[in-house]
Amino acid sequence: MRDRFWEKYSLGELNSREWEALCDGCGQCCLKRRVENGMVTVYGVACELLDIDTARCRDYANRLRKVPNCHELTPTSVPQYQGWLPETCAYVRLYTNQPLPSWHPLLAGDRSRMGKKGITISSYAVASGTLSRRQKERHVVSRWSVSKRRQQNAKKISQSRIQAQPLRLSAGRGK
Ligand code: SF4
Repeated sequence: MRDRFWEKYSLGELNSREWEALCDGCGQCCLKRRVENGMVTVYGVACELLDIDTARCRDYANRLRKVPNCHELTPTSVPQYQGWLPETCAYVRLYTNQPLPSWHPLLAGDRSRMGKKGITISSYAVASGTLSRRQKERHVVSRWSVSKRRQQNAKKISQSRIQAQPLRLSAGRGK
């Protein structure tokens, strides 16, 4: 992996090892969701393949075949799923030109800080099929508007472009 690649390259320029290392392993994208009337509701209920203790997929290589509604995240699909992923997701953060948070394993060295901050799902997620429908409705962990999230991301992208513009000072030689 190239030194501090997340600061130097865009998503599409990452090699496969860098791409995989960018995932912080929070497991939040592997929680059950409902998308209705433009709102995403995230339940604290794990996907069938998610190992709750490690917050990792138990069969990552075959996940797309085994779980029909599992979607592959690629550099070109990040914009499509940006309103569906958590704000902390490293792919969304790079897409919106935001730095990685200090707790990210690439900066912190491991996932211990994530656990303490409650970023990983291990402390609250329950296995699929363990809750009744009513219990599941009470185990909502977050909810947001897809369009609002997209607008916020677009704003972050445009603000970062403005900040990246070189400052042009008038020399004032005309007088
Ligand atoms: S939400 Fe993003 S960073 Fe977290 S596990 Fe999913 S892909 Fe990785």
